[in-house]
Amino acid sequence: MLMKENEPLARYTTLEIGGPARWFAQADTEDDVAEATAWARERGVPLFVLGGGSNLLVADAGFEGLTLHVQLRGIDVEADDAGNCIYRVAAGEDWDAFVERTVTDGCAGLECLAGIPGTVGGTPVQNVGAYGQEVASSIVQVRAFDLEQRAFVEFTKEECGFAYRRSRFNTEERGRYVVTRVDYRLTPGGAPTVRYADLQRALAETPEPTLIDVAAAVRQVRRAKGMLLVEGDADCRSAGSFFKNPVISEDQYEKIAASHAAPPRFPAGPEHGGCVKVPAAWLIEQAGFGKGCAAGHAGISSKHTLALINRGNATAAEMLALAERVSAAVDARFGVRLEMEPVRVGFE
Ligand SMILES: Cc1cc2nc3c(=O)[nH]c(=O)nc-3n(C[C@H](O)[C@H](O)[C@H](O)COP(=O)(O)OP(=O)(O)OC[C@H]3O[C@@H](n4cnc5c(N)ncnc54)[C@H](O)[C@@H]3O)c2cc1C
Repeated sequence: MLMKENEPLARYTTLEIGGPARWFAQADTEDDVAEATAWARERGVPLFVLGGGSNLLVADAGFEGLTLHVQLRGIDVEADDAGNCIYRVAAGEDWDAFVERTVTDGCAGLECLAGIPGTVGGTPVQNVGAYGQEVASSIVQVRAFDLEQRAFVEFTKEECGFAYRRSRFNTEERGRYVVTRVDYRLTPGGAPTVRYADLQRALAETPEPTLIDVAAAVRQVRRAKGMLLVEGDADCRSAGSFFKNPVISEDQYEKIAASHAAPPRFPAGPEHGGCVKVPAAWLIEQAGFGKGCAAGHAGISSKHTLALINRGNATAAEMLALAERVSAAVDARFGVRLEMEPVRVGFE
């Protein structure tokens, strides 16, 4: 396997920020994954697994270890006993291209997740979600290389521990597994999900939208928010949402509503009983950071308050400084701590 040295990482990330990887290898097969990770282990070198780089903030000094770029390809489809389609998808496949294939095949379940950048292998890590769907609802199994056991393992959906932007892959066991394949169960001929108001508005002229229509409408809505990677659109030089939507108690919600104004609210999900989810974008705007706000080379997207952007030649330090200013302002005004969504690489 080809091992590069001092490979600049900025070009592999949607933020276009980050110094070099001390070592860099590309995995095209499961054997490559086993071989590269053994190489790192024998030398006591830390490992970072890179997918599409769309949820990363890489340090200006880069990563003093081995970056393994997961590029495994291939999609197999089979029917299960109930007539559903099981898509077995290699981790390096492009996510949006895969979603497009499923809607073209007439299979429901992922149509609202169109336009999200990155790889298939990245989707179970933070349980990717948008416009009323998340991958946890479709995933049946995740295959991965376990760096501790030095063996391939398979997890059922239940074993993945999915919750809002969480899974076993980004919590206690972060960094332990290299995902090599994800299996999704989709419904042939199933009805599309059109739950979100933005999506309903975009489809107002389409009374009976197909899955293809819904995926196209999702991309259109995302484009208007700078949440679709579009060549030449400076607002999408981002990592998508920079903060998770905070989950707060009903008490805290009532206090904010009484002392300021009532924030919009959404159900927080069964794993957060008695709590509500509030939009981080609303809190950030109320705390004084509007769309298009600039801080040197870093800034906030002119289309979406939740996306911190590289305005050109921004450093990771500038991005973090802005993120810290934003979260300190939200904390001071509402007593809510925002949690960063992108993964920080090379900061330890
Ligand atoms: C414009 C834009 C819009 C976005 N919109 C959304 C959205 O609507 N919803 C949403 O949930 N996210 C969104 N994101 C975030 C991002 O696209 C997703 O989190 C995506 O799934 C990340 O995948 P990736 O392959 O790019 O992972 P990377 O950014 O390369 O890595 C992210 C994390 O996943 C790990 N990882 C990646 N691949 C593997 C693997 N094969 N095995 C083990 N670990 C792995 C990495 O080590 C790292 O910890 C958006 C990002 C951008 C730039």
